[in-house]
Amino acid sequence: MDCLFCKIIAGEIPSSKIYEDDTVFAFNDIDPQAPVHVLIVPKVHIASADDINEKNSDVIAHIFEVAAKIAKEKGLSDGYRIVNNCGDQAGQTVKHIHFHLMGGRDFTWPAG
Ligand code: AMP
Ligand code: ZN
Repeated sequence: MDCLFCKIIAGEIPSSKIYEDDTVFAFNDIDPQAPVHVLIVPKVHIASADDINEKNSDVIAHIFEVAAKIAKEKGLSDGYRIVNNCGDQAGQTVKHIHFHLMGGRDFTWPAG
């Protein structure tokens, strides 16, 4: 499959890995929008949040466990933001679901 994040998970394209286990992979965003900007992805190819269902939602729950763990490791005790862009209008550019874990600065709301 011609998927950038599948290739990163497989090690075919280099990345700055932060965390890996049997089902989840996390790496630094190549264009960081905050002092900490980590992308957390499932190893299984799920195209977007619109494709989450009762068969694959366990890994999505696990991603949030991993996010909390990485946030603690990165010292984000003042808070952080987890973002998922779903679909073109939301600005999803890579069609392999990913969660942006961003921290180390103040954020405004609503985003964009
Ligand atoms: P989104 O716009 O929500 O689909 O987010 C895609 C993210 O992937 C962007 O923040 C990009 O900077 C990031 N990105 C694209 N290519 C790479 C790469 N090779 N390594 C790490 N991050 C990447
Ligand atoms: Zn993929």
